[in-house]
Amino acid sequence: MKILTADYILTCDDDFSIIEDGAVCFDEKIIEVGKKDEVIKNNPYAIVKHLSPNSVIMPGLINTHTHLEYSANKTTLIYGDFIKWLQSVIANRDKLKEDCGAECYKNAIEQMLLSGVTAFGNISSFGDDLDACFESPQKIVYFNEILGSNPDFIDDVFLNFEKRLQKSYEFFSRDLIPAVSIHSIYSTHPMLMDMALNIAKKDKLLISAHFMESLAEREWIDRGEGDFYEFLKIFNQNPKPMQNAMEFLEKFRGLKTIFAHGVVCKKEELKFISKNGSLSHCLVSNRVLNNPLLNIEEALKEEVSITIGTDGLSSNNSLNIWDELRAVLFAHSHIDVLKLSKYLITFATVNGAKALGLDDVGMLKIGKSADIITVILPDKVLKKEQLPLELILHTKEVKSGYIDGERCV
Ligand SMILES: [Zn+2]
Repeated sequence: MKILTADYILTCDDDFSIIEDGAVCFDEKIIEVGKKDEVIKNNPYAIVKHLSPNSVIMPGLINTHTHLEYSANKTTLIYGDFIKWLQSVIANRDKLKEDCGAECYKNAIEQMLLSGVTAFGNISSFGDDLDACFESPQKIVYFNEILGSNPDFIDDVFLNFEKRLQKSYEFFSRDLIPAVSIHSIYSTHPMLMDMALNIAKKDKLLISAHFMESLAEREWIDRGEGDFYEFLKIFNQNPKPMQNAMEFLEKFRGLKTIFAHGVVCKKEELKFISKNGSLSHCLVSNRVLNNPLLNIEEALKEEVSITIGTDGLSSNNSLNIWDELRAVLFAHSHIDVLKLSKYLITFATVNGAKALGLDDVGMLKIGKSADIITVILPDKVLKKEQLPLELILHTKEVKSGYIDGERCV
């Protein structure tokens, strides 16, 4: 049993309580959170560690959307246009896959870990990242992706998906949870979706789907026109949208889905998402591909649970979640900075945990798993209300991290 004491405990509980001169007592689970003196008095046999001045203890952070298989990308892919990027991903996929060996995966996972990410959602297209995910100390929801629009190949594509899913079942544990990813509305045939979603339903698996990521996607789905028409002609002489947006969404009704991006959603789509899952906000990815900025306030008005995703290094320069949080903070300049900082910490903790179905993390509360990170700020925070903002501004790496009470950083 351990006690960590710090100047501030950011609990991320329902009231967003911040405890000054606080402490957390834990083994695998959190035993007590409160004022330092009381926690020490109530747990006399615990080993006490006092963190340095200006310290903060908070729940481990959660990245709900990334693609480890693209971790080798630095400057290979084309940015600035969604379709051109997609074409460059297809053209360079094999090379990037080849370039990401064990070391590349290890570095990517470590970058997340050092930034305090104790749980993440990983989209796997090929199953190449399974060993690395299994080796990592973090809790991972492993989304096996399916895509394919040609009805002639549905059986083959499904067989390949089933094989990968089966393989991930062999690694199934508390720390590696198999799940399903439907790539997108424009790339996945409705029949293929039904087949994969039937498994998700039967096995109660979590789902992830890219949805309304670009204006080109919106234009294509609503009107069958635009850049997607030209792009999809490579695969089909006379391409047509396979379904409309609500037909696509309806397939996820009653299931639990993380919809990634959602930057050009209509009101009824946001309403649907709020009742059937959550939204992963991947700002840097949206920015480098010239996709629109998510309207956070509009999504919150429809009660959408927003989470934070870095997306893969295929459309980001960093998997460090603090880099992502800073970018989000600066990009949404119309929202009050203190209010937004508080939102962002909530998105990256409680909301992320709920989205990934990890109900026992994301909050410092008695009985929850001891997934904890500590941060040392450069100086004293004069206004407690400013703590979330100072954390986002100043944190690059955490001082220490614990998963289920075990030291991991
Ligand atoms: Zn993605």
